[in-house]
Amino acid sequence: MEKESKIYVAGHRGLVGSAILHNLQEEGYNNIVIRTHRELDLCNQQEVRAFFEKERPEYVFLAAAKVGGILANSTYPADFIYNNLAIQIYAIHNAYLYGVKKLLFLGSSCIYPKFAPQPMKEEYLLTGILEPTNEPYAIAKISGIKMCQAYNRQYGTNFISVMPTNLYGPGDNFDLETSHVLSALIRKFHEAKLSGQPVTVWGTGTPRREFLYVNDLAEACVFLMNCYDGEDIINIGTGLDISIKELAGFISEVIGYRGEIIFDTGKPDGMQRKLLDVTRINSLGWKAKTDLREGIEKTYKWYLSTQK
Ligand code: GDP
Repeated sequence: MEKESKIYVAGHRGLVGSAILHNLQEEGYNNIVIRTHRELDLCNQQEVRAFFEKERPEYVFLAAAKVGGILANSTYPADFIYNNLAIQIYAIHNAYLYGVKKLLFLGSSCIYPKFAPQPMKEEYLLTGILEPTNEPYAIAKISGIKMCQAYNRQYGTNFISVMPTNLYGPGDNFDLETSHVLSALIRKFHEAKLSGQPVTVWGTGTPRREFLYVNDLAEACVFLMNCYDGEDIINIGTGLDISIKELAGFISEVIGYRGEIIFDTGKPDGMQRKLLDVTRINSLGWKAKTDLREGIEKTYKWYLSTQK
């Protein structure tokens, strides 16, 4: 990308899109196109086509998606498969029709099989059954990957797909029903510190997850947009995981909560372990920078700023 290239960041108000937008602006890219949901409904075929016809972006970061934690995925499976498929098919197809030079599609680590060996290598895609709690979302994301690859093969486009691990950071969703674990626990521990009530953590606490600070992901996406043109998907993570119980311990320390922690085993655990193999991106020359404690501190600070 040149500094004056026309770059469309789809989903710039979301956790990932806003971090990508910020990173591009910091790096001096000065011709960025954005649209709010109200201005452009990415699930509307006509609107998306009219947008691409008018703006003709050269580069697209496809960070718009319907995302959510384990409960949201099990409660609204139709919303997750419909919205994600719709966003992808219209954006990717129009990117091809209107000559986008390169598109970066954001997938997810939940595309990998439930029983994949850990850490999960890119080649494990489609080698086994998926985790049922987020299968509709995963199927949509797998379709996005396959669309990018099919368009590259048939039409010679340059559409790449990246698979981020579990993300967190400023701008995250802190709604307890729909959020992911890290932001949910920040809120729960913060509120428990104020109320003196115990904290309830879902599941057994034994599942292991990898957490990537969203600014690191944004940096990786811009890096790959500039230097990776391959057909293969690329994992983006830290290469390190911790148990939910350890995460709860970490967060309680950062927040200064010393009360009781209850594990609600009536709630699902989901995948036992979800850790990405990051050999491929590391060998391209990129590594995650932010350590988990520092990232949690920054995210908690941001959360506190929204409470005033
Ligand atoms: P997942 O990685 O797709 O399973 O998504 P989540 O981030 O929602 O959940 C990760 C793990 O954290 C699961 O084992 C959850 O049961 C567990 N967890 C513990 N407490 C919470 C909570 O308050 N909210 C969420 N979303 N997950 C929690």
